[in-house]
Order: sequence, then structure tokens, then C-alpha cells
Amino acid sequence: MKIYSRKELNDYSLSLTYDDISLVPTEISRVITRNEVNIKSSFLAIELSVPVVSSPMDTVTGIAMAKELSRSGCVGIINRFDSSLSELFVNDSVEEGIQVVSVSLTAEEALLEKIAANKLIVCIDTANANNAHVLNKCEELKKKYDIKVIIGNIAQGGTLRQLVDAGADAVRIGIGGGSMCTTSIQTGIGIGQVSSLIDTYFAREEGKLKIELIADGGIKSPGDISKAIAAGADVVMLGRMLAGTKETPGEVIKYNDQLWKKYRGSASFGVKMKGEFIEGEETMVPYKGTVKSVINAISDGLRSSMSYLNCESLDELKHKDRFAILSTSSYLERLPRK
Ligand code: IMP
Repeated sequence: MKIYSRKELNDYSLSLTYDDISLVPTEISRVITRNEVNIKSSFLAIELSVPVVSSPMDTVTGIAMAKELSRSGCVGIINRFDSSLSELFVNDSVEEGIQVVSVSLTAEEALLEKIAANKLIVCIDTANANNAHVLNKCEELKKKYDIKVIIGNIAQGGTLRQLVDAGADAVRIGIGGGSMCTTSIQTGIGIGQVSSLIDTYFAREEGKLKIELIADGGIKSPGDISKAIAAGADVVMLGRMLAGTKETPGEVIKYNDQLWKKYRGSASFGVKMKGEFIEGEETMVPYKGTVKSVINAISDGLRSSMSYLNCESLDELKHKDRFAILSTSSYLERLPRK
């Protein structure tokens, strides 16, 4: 049975995503219980207990979500759409907890000044980082302010050096993989998330570039998080997995005796509300209770994965290099059946 290294997956002829691969335990694990596994890391110098950041979508991250994620040792990126940003700066200074906010490419100077004055990290929230306007904006922010900048998104690592030269501190990786995303259907753009990650990882390593890698889109389970990190991500960005929790913006809706919350793409009609090009869907997801319970489940799943793989730290997981490529039938065999 062929066990692939990350390099071999990078050379694989087809683009791969999470359901195409599996992590293979090939060693006697020295880990006795998953509780002894250390999943601490840092993201742009923020200490993380679990390597998760939330997507800056208007149905995922407002102030309540960012605060609760911070309490759980994760990071929330406040979305640029609703009133959160003005609420945030109501007294010109920001409450502790809040560390990252997103802005549009055309954000006003006054807002950017407040963000910089409060030492917040800024995420320029666009669909395509391979764009001269995005890179110019990043460069301008880095020149003007002492600020860390996240940009996105990219599908492979070919332009990573230009992003780093523009001053980007972190990049969101993934085009077309988001659960509300219709980009690939509308445009034919994008490759599988695992291939995107691995390609960008090698671009960083081979180019000796300093930039943090965020796996963004298509993550459905704690197992996918483990795969994303093994593929080379430093942190994962979650939309769907956090959608429907108590702390997301929006109302809980009762329908057919079940509780729901809205989840929609940032480029969906509901967000744009005008005749612009739409590249996102809108849906209802079951109400999940607190985000803390979701983060705890992620933490347990990731630790358990690492104990199978004989990894005591995320750094070891990043260098484990043991992947199988699944046939469709072996993927299906991995799913529970009744
Ligand atoms: P999810 O975790 O699979 O739901 O993916 C979340 C990611 O999808 C976000 O972080 C964005 O990168 C991406 N995304 C959000 N809204 C849209 C959209 O409307 N169109 C395309 N991609 C989107």
C-alpha cells in the first residue's frame, strides 16, 4: 500500500480535497491519552489553545462570537458588513478580547486609523488576493501603520512571494471550497483544498517566506482540521462549522419543531441586496448551542487524531507526512452506516 508524503501529494496528478485523503498511523504511538496532546499554537503572535479562527462572514462573526472564541483560546475575525465595527469603536477604544477585524478594499481612512490605534490585526476581506488593488492596499497599510495584515484568497502558491513583498502577514488559502460558495460553478476557478494548501506550503518553505497559512473553506469536521494542518496549514478558518451557534449574529428561528439559524455566503444575494454578481448561497443550519461546545468537540477530535498519529504537538502533526489517497469506495466505507 502506497503511503504518500506531502511532497508526493504535491506532485500528484489530480487536485485533492479533504475527502480524497486520509491520515495513516504508521508508528507505535507514545501518547497514552488524548489529554496529554498539546494543541497550543500561535497565530500572528496571538496564543491559541485550539488552532481555529472564525470566518469574517456576517452570519458567523460579530462581537459576541469574537469574545467567546477568544475565551475559548481561538480567534474571531469581526465581519465588515454589519454594525459590529461601529459598535466596536463606540468609545474609540476596543474591549479586550477583540483582536482581528475585517475591512473591505474601500474601507474609510478613519476606520483604518482606529483599527491601527487599537493595535488590531486587519483582514482585507476580498475573494482574490492575486489582485493589484489588494496588494497595493496591503502595501499602503503596512507603510502607513504598524499593523498586521491578512489577505486572501489564493488557490496555489505561485504568487506567494508577491504577497509577502506587499507585506502580507497571513494568507487565506482556498478558492471555490467554501460550503456557501458558488465561485467554481460561476467561474470555473479553483482547485481542491488539500492541493491548494500543500502547494502554498511548499511555496513558503522553498521560498523561505515568512507568512502564516490559513486553510479557508470546505472544513466539515475535526478530522478535516487535522488533515488541513498535516497538509501545511498553521490555522483553519471555519464558517459552516461555527454557523448556527448561539454566538453567531442573527435570530434563532423555529421551523418544523426544530431550531435554526441563517448562514449565508459573503457574496450571496442576501448580503449584496442589489444587482451585483452573486457567488454565494444562503441556507438555514440547525441551531447548535454554544460555540464553546463546538470548539471542545474540535479539540477532542484533533487530540484524538494526533494520538493515533503519535504526535504530541501540532508541529509534529505538520511534519507527519503520512497520507493515503482514498478511492470513492474507501471514502464511503469511512462513513457511519445504519
Ligand atoms: P465554510 O467553512 O466551508 O463554510 O467556508 C467558509 C469560507 O467560504 C469563508 O471563510 C470564505 O473564504 C468563503 N466564502 C464565504 N462566503 C462566500 C461566498 O459568498 N462565495 C464564495 N466563497 C465564500
